[in-house]
Amino acid sequence: MVNFNIRPFVGTETEYMAEACRNGKICGDGPFTKRCQEWMNSFFRVPATYLTTSGTAALEMAALLCDLKPGDEVILPSYTFCSTADAFVQRGASLVFTDIRPDTMNIDETRIEEAITDKTRVIVAVHYAGVACEMDTICAIAARHGLKVVEDAAQAFGSSYRGRMLGTIGDFNCLSFHETKNLSMGEGGAILLPDLAYRDQAEIYREKGTDRSRFYRGQIDKYTWQDYGSSYLPSDINAAYLWAQLEQYDRIYEDRMQTWKAYDEALRPLAAEGRIEQPCIPEGCEHNAHMYYIKAADLAERTALIDYLKSRDIMAVFHYIPLHSAPAGRKYGRFDGEDRYTTKESERLLRLPLYYGLSVEDRRKVIDAVTAFYR
Ligand SMILES: *Cc1c(COP(=O)(O)O)cnc(C)c1O
Repeated sequence: MVNFNIRPFVGTETEYMAEACRNGKICGDGPFTKRCQEWMNSFFRVPATYLTTSGTAALEMAALLCDLKPGDEVILPSYTFCSTADAFVQRGASLVFTDIRPDTMNIDETRIEEAITDKTRVIVAVHYAGVACEMDTICAIAARHGLKVVEDAAQAFGSSYRGRMLGTIGDFNCLSFHETKNLSMGEGGAILLPDLAYRDQAEIYREKGTDRSRFYRGQIDKYTWQDYGSSYLPSDINAAYLWAQLEQYDRIYEDRMQTWKAYDEALRPLAAEGRIEQPCIPEGCEHNAHMYYIKAADLAERTALIDYLKSRDIMAVFHYIPLHSAPAGRKYGRFDGEDRYTTKESERLLRLPLYYGLSVEDRRKVIDAVTAFYR
């Protein structure tokens, strides 16, 4: 059987996790957390990175930092994971979904400005499949209207846009280390702050509303409850797992990229015949081989393809049901403009198995099965 995903494991994780246990510091902000954060500060060239308990938690911190009032509006694509929306709903914000571009499945930057009202405060850029949104346009719109930009870079660790790493362009930027992402810590994530002005407030939200982080740095002599907050620190045991993966980042990236390129090359003839569509990587975007998807003609064909692959022991999956058509999406938001591509394209998309360590043999099975289905 070819699984859709197997969690990344490089081999040194168990040793580091045992070390975390021996350190006697298994709560948050232990030595492995510090190591991971420093590594990411230098990898991303940002002044502050904080590990969180999930990508969802990182988005919650971002939403807190946006300082929203009930009724404020947040613009986001409807084609995304629900966590992108949850974080803002929790702040009482109202969601304004916009259409996506059919080529990248990312928010259509040309539809954003018409969705802006006097209540708009934030634009969320979700980099689907690790391929960048059109950030120059999005940031220019945000600057013109005084809006914050949040990057949901949950799928985009290591990707870049015109030479800038994703996760460093918006005001508050979120990564995920869930086991389905390129790098993992079981459950976990991170928030990246390009601007140090938000550091103290971010630390307060992350530390149950206290200024404990400043206390540990020796900047104050006692810590107190300053504001509301939550507990967004992961255990150092989880950070130890992530540390093993960060150390092997190049290996994980290369391995995934080989699979991605092999799929892309082998399926090109089917695309040339117009049977399927392949992912589009716009000029100036470097992606991280997070996902390989193809698009079938329509929903019926995709369903038949999934069934066919399953009959050959290959697990391929689709996502997302557009948020604006889900019960919570209808309750907390509205779709702005016309749904030209969100629903239609989401019904065509199918993700092929892709994970660190997928064998050449299994990759071949997937390619042969997809080709056989169409021939
Ligand atoms: C995975 C993912 C999240 C949530 O990350 P978790 O770590 O699972 O909480 C949010 N947004 C997108 C686009 C994702 O793919």
